[in-house]
Amino acid sequence: MDLYEYQGKELFRRFGIPVSDGRLATTPAEARVAAEELGGQVVVKAQVLVGGRGKAGGIKLAENAADAEQKAKAILGMDIRGHVVRKVWIEKASEIAKEYYLSVTFDRGEKEPLFMLTTEGGVDIEEVAATKPDALARLHVNPLEGYQPYQGRRLIYQAGIEDPSEQKQMLAIVGKLYECFVSSDAMLCEINPLIVTPAGEVRALDSKFTVDDNALYKHADIAQMRDVAAADPLEAFAREKGVTYVKLDGNVGILGNGAGLSMSTVDVVAHVGGRPANFCDLGGGGDAQGVVDALEVITRDGDVRSIFFNIFGGITRCDEVARGILQALEQMTIEHPIVVRLDGTNSEEGRRILQEAAPPNLHAEATMLEGARKAVELASSVGSTEPPKSGGAGFAGAGAER
Ligand code: GDP
Ligand code: MN
Repeated sequence: MDLYEYQGKELFRRFGIPVSDGRLATTPAEARVAAEELGGQVVVKAQVLVGGRGKAGGIKLAENAADAEQKAKAILGMDIRGHVVRKVWIEKASEIAKEYYLSVTFDRGEKEPLFMLTTEGGVDIEEVAATKPDALARLHVNPLEGYQPYQGRRLIYQAGIEDPSEQKQMLAIVGKLYECFVSSDAMLCEINPLIVTPAGEVRALDSKFTVDDNALYKHADIAQMRDVAAADPLEAFAREKGVTYVKLDGNVGILGNGAGLSMSTVDVVAHVGGRPANFCDLGGGGDAQGVVDALEVITRDGDVRSIFFNIFGGITRCDEVARGILQALEQMTIEHPIVVRLDGTNSEEGRRILQEAAPPNLHAEATMLEGARKAVELASSVGSTEPPKSGGAGFAGAGAER
């Protein structure tokens, strides 16, 4: 789960990492009041779950409360790479002498948390890593031994921070950030920029904070930070139904039981020249209600032209799935053709059930490849004007948007 800047900063503040005083506002009038309370110059910052807000015009300096109201008016409602701004964070403006970068994340290769620190902050860290790799100090922390201050000192020296007062403040921030990262079950805590003011004070000016979804049950306070309104409505609906659903950009709806089979199905559809509209995993159960829920999710996606239902019966029995499909068809009208491939436990029984009921628009195929071909063919014949991309992106091209 990704946190907004203001939420990440709230966690930073709780762990003693210095941040500026600020207020949240959802209207220009609220922004004005917030700026009045803070006094003097403020920064009006778009709260969206995407980086590079500054470049996109989502961060503006305001001279006074009236100006803050105007700046908030300009920023609220703005679309920053597909994210509409619904909230602004009004923060006491900082004077900046230097911009550093500090983060802690997981290095999956080393299976250890990794700190990164550079004095070349404020800009894209990927650019620093690519053009000036030596400027980026890196430090792994053994999670069992925990963080030790000597490691923080090493990181700070390696980054070339020489001012003794800065070193002292940085050391405290690095230690607190590690504590914050571990105690919050975070996957990423990033501060860019971590500024030094002309008076020599070090402070976090931005926050990018990702918490492990699987640990949210331990953090009721963080879990309730989730912004239900900002979430993709379909993904939110899927979560509510307990269906794993990822939106992709094609037109063949994919439904499988188990993540592995669903991913293979996505790949096979791409392999035969089709474009998956989504990745949908029914989970291991696949009882009738589960099928109904998943079909309900998939059919809400306006891009779907055909549905490929790929079931391998293991613990899931194919006859149960077949009944689920029929039940779903009774409960709801599905306009799209459905291709079903049933294999594994009770597959013959399952296919027999489908054949006997013979619902219109339902095609049973014996193999995954045949099923994929059929679904792709049906998707392109049902009112899709775009020809399928050859090759296909497969599943790998789908994730990692942020
Ligand atoms: P991002 O563009 O989404 O990463 O948003 P940031 O919060 O990092 O802000 C972008 C840039 O705006 C920063 O790198 C700063 O240069 C500038 N900025 C943000 N807050 C302040 C502030 O309080 N004072 C000044 N002078 N500049 C700020
Ligand atoms: Mn930033």
